[in-house]
Amino acid sequence: MQTVRTLQELERLGLVAPEPRLAAAVDGMAVAITPEMLALIDRDRLAHDPIARQFVPSAAETEIAPEELADPIGDEARSPVKGIVHRYPDRILLKPLHVCPVYCRFCFRREKVGPGGEALSADELSAALAYIRRRPQIWEVILTGGDPLMLSPRRMADLVTALDAIGHVGVIRVHSRVPVVDPGRITDALLAALKPQRAALWLGIHCNHARELAPAARAALSRLADAGIPLLGQTVLLAGINDDVATLEALMRALVSCRVKPYYLHHPDLVRGTGHFRVSIERGQALVKALRGRLSGLAQPTYVLDVPGGHGKVPIGPTYLGPCYLGDDPDALTVEDAFGATHRYPPR
Ligand SMILES: *Cc1c(COP(=O)(O)O)cnc(C)c1O
Ligand code: SF4
Repeated sequence: MQTVRTLQELERLGLVAPEPRLAAAVDGMAVAITPEMLALIDRDRLAHDPIARQFVPSAAETEIAPEELADPIGDEARSPVKGIVHRYPDRILLKPLHVCPVYCRFCFRREKVGPGGEALSADELSAALAYIRRRPQIWEVILTGGDPLMLSPRRMADLVTALDAIGHVGVIRVHSRVPVVDPGRITDALLAALKPQRAALWLGIHCNHARELAPAARAALSRLADAGIPLLGQTVLLAGINDDVATLEALMRALVSCRVKPYYLHHPDLVRGTGHFRVSIERGQALVKALRGRLSGLAQPTYVLDVPGGHGKVPIGPTYLGPCYLGDDPDALTVEDAFGATHRYPPR
């Protein structure tokens, strides 16, 4: 079986019913569902299946709310040269290409990714590398896109080698969905490409549900970890996919079992046509709070919001400290423990 890319194939497979608005949804963002993800879809409960909901287009994508934005995290405003987003002094995003192995319907770069939004040309990539070379404050280069592991091993090796040759680049971070959704791409050649001589290379894995971690994905993560690559987990909090405590708990445990350290739990961005995926911040905080008592510290992600307009990410998890109105010291605090009980704490 091959990656499914058209509405006709989705209809033939019984994954969507004919519905005129789907054509507009697919116009807004291409379709791609890999055989590995197709195999995980439970056809008997399509509407509630966490895999189908992530990748199968829906008519709800044509409903645009007034607060939704074409560039929800302000990448454009912070792009000094094509392919680079520079928001923090010490680190940049480098987007060598726009294609992905799958197209996640909730994607924060929904209006940028897709086939056709092609890779940087050789000249554009040289200009991006020159930008990094001229700025010694850039300590970390984060390869994103699109999905950087869609580059051929040869091109990935060239890019890693070029970054490794820039002495002030201490860390090359790659963000990818490939190990989970298209694990066959994690070949020996790709592993060899992900080996800079000098800089540290970290890999962030995007995964939203424990069911995505099928045996082939787990094997790919093992190959990466065995190759000495530290692995981080990134999850988007998504309504109807992972917005309950048991699902998040199972996911975080599954990631840690695969030697992936949960890094961020992203609050969903204000992407056009994704209202059906959004959860309130209040609900997100309650979920994160519930995880605290249930899960090892190793398995706790930081709940973050990307501030719309290009202002970067901030943690928005629950707070545990509050004022204390008991006793005679007006500056005393209360601290809530992981099981919901509160305790008095002196001000200093
Ligand atoms: C998310 C992001 C980063 C990385 O942020 P961390 O908090 O270091 O993971 C860097 N630059 C941009 C533009 C980003 O959007
Ligand atoms: S893999 Fe990442 S960049 Fe690509 S569609 Fe999914 S969320 Fe967007």
